[in-house]
Amino acid sequence: MKQSKITQRFLCVTLVAVMSLTACGKETKEEEKPAGYTIDNIREYVVGVDEKVELEDGSKRAIINFDNAATTPALQPVSDEVEAQMKMYGSIGRGFSKKSDYSTDFYNNTRSKVLQFVGADEENYTCFYVNNTTDGLNKLASALITSEDDVVLCTRMEHHANDLSWRERCKVIYAEIDKQGRVDYKSLEKMLKKNKVKYVAVTAASNVTGYVTDVHRVAKLAHKYGAKIIVDGAQIVAHRKFSMIGETPEENIDFFVFSAHKMYSPYGGGAVVGLTSVLNKHMPEFYGGGIVTIVTDKEQNYKDAPASYEAGSPNYPGVVGLGKAIDILQEVGFDAISEHEQKLVRRLIDGILKMDNAVVYGDTEDISDRVGVVTFNLTDVNSMHLAMKLSEKGVATRRGAFCAHTYVWRLLGVSDEAAKELVECGEGGTPGMIRVSFGIYNTEEEVDEFLSILDKAHGECLKEMEMLPHQPGL
Ligand code: PMP
Repeated sequence: MKQSKITQRFLCVTLVAVMSLTACGKETKEEEKPAGYTIDNIREYVVGVDEKVELEDGSKRAIINFDNAATTPALQPVSDEVEAQMKMYGSIGRGFSKKSDYSTDFYNNTRSKVLQFVGADEENYTCFYVNNTTDGLNKLASALITSEDDVVLCTRMEHHANDLSWRERCKVIYAEIDKQGRVDYKSLEKMLKKNKVKYVAVTAASNVTGYVTDVHRVAKLAHKYGAKIIVDGAQIVAHRKFSMIGETPEENIDFFVFSAHKMYSPYGGGAVVGLTSVLNKHMPEFYGGGIVTIVTDKEQNYKDAPASYEAGSPNYPGVVGLGKAIDILQEVGFDAISEHEQKLVRRLIDGILKMDNAVVYGDTEDISDRVGVVTFNLTDVNSMHLAMKLSEKGVATRRGAFCAHTYVWRLLGVSDEAAKELVECGEGGTPGMIRVSFGIYNTEEEVDEFLSILDKAHGECLKEMEMLPHQPGL
């Protein structure tokens, strides 16, 4: 029987008390920590969160890491689990040894955990491991696209991973975004009506504005017009509960792709969850060992998915880390994560909007459909200049167009021609904005400190600009 959290905590505290008595007060740090991972204690378990770095002025401080949409730091229990599993590491699916058997089972059993994480049933779905979201989307595109004339419907919000992977292989059309930068569902349906779309490829959450797209609504539309839906889950998995299963079967998601390094397991790895029946009809152009039943002089017979999508020896630490990260995120709970993020986003947006010449992209009033990503500019200074100042002062952000150029140009109101001209002149990279992206461990105090550092950095940029040429607002 499952114990309640309170009972577990009571037992743990009692055990710690008894152990510390018998050990004559020799408590380890581990024993002092409360049982369980929560939104309130998770920061204690972030590897390197207090690691000081030397800044330009010679001072040392732990950086404020507001670049979690790019990648997340490891959680200690994830890192511990990876190390622990190394003791029993053996060849996956190829060896004859107890270690090989153990790690092969561990590797395969983690597939069930991944499926359960995204609400997918084993009867209809399978999961294959990939290096990251980019790898997963390319593998899917390589397998599913059978002709240059196939039509894929993307949106103008997509990360390049979910745009170029298709663009380079077939015909891609795009649903537009609305005035606030959300996916325009009407435009999406219009495109579906007008074209014979084979796949709709959309992101679940934007890496630029944090907007969460109603992918089940998109699934219903896609299925109505005979298409299948592929969801880029890179920015949703560490932020909101995600289910492949909608309220009705038409709303179910067909394929879902995500990276482990964006969910506190930076050991490489990620997964694609997809319809077994469809995956079994295809294969990616990626060949090698582990994917065949037999090869003869003249022919080769391939296994079914997931094996057929996993040529070569796999990244076992990546899979171990992914499984443990899933456990911890589920324990912290997505309601708590989302509530915490909303608080941080609200506080940050309000703070930035109090500053002179501030523009925050996307809807700044209704933030309920945004994960912890905020992009902005202070239009009287150059964003590159400002991001460098922030970095010098110990804040990690990202600046640029975040591998989502077509979306960023639209949000900035910059034409393709103007963007190209700026890139070609080579002065400050692409036109861009500054992105703050939160992890589960960031705090309101960090937001306040960031706002004060931003104010100082802004002032310094303005002063230095009197001496330097600049491109304000880009
Ligand atoms: N899609 C989105 C929405 C992303 O934010 C990213 C990473 N920035 C990717 C895809 C690509 O992820 P990865 O670099 O892990 O392949």
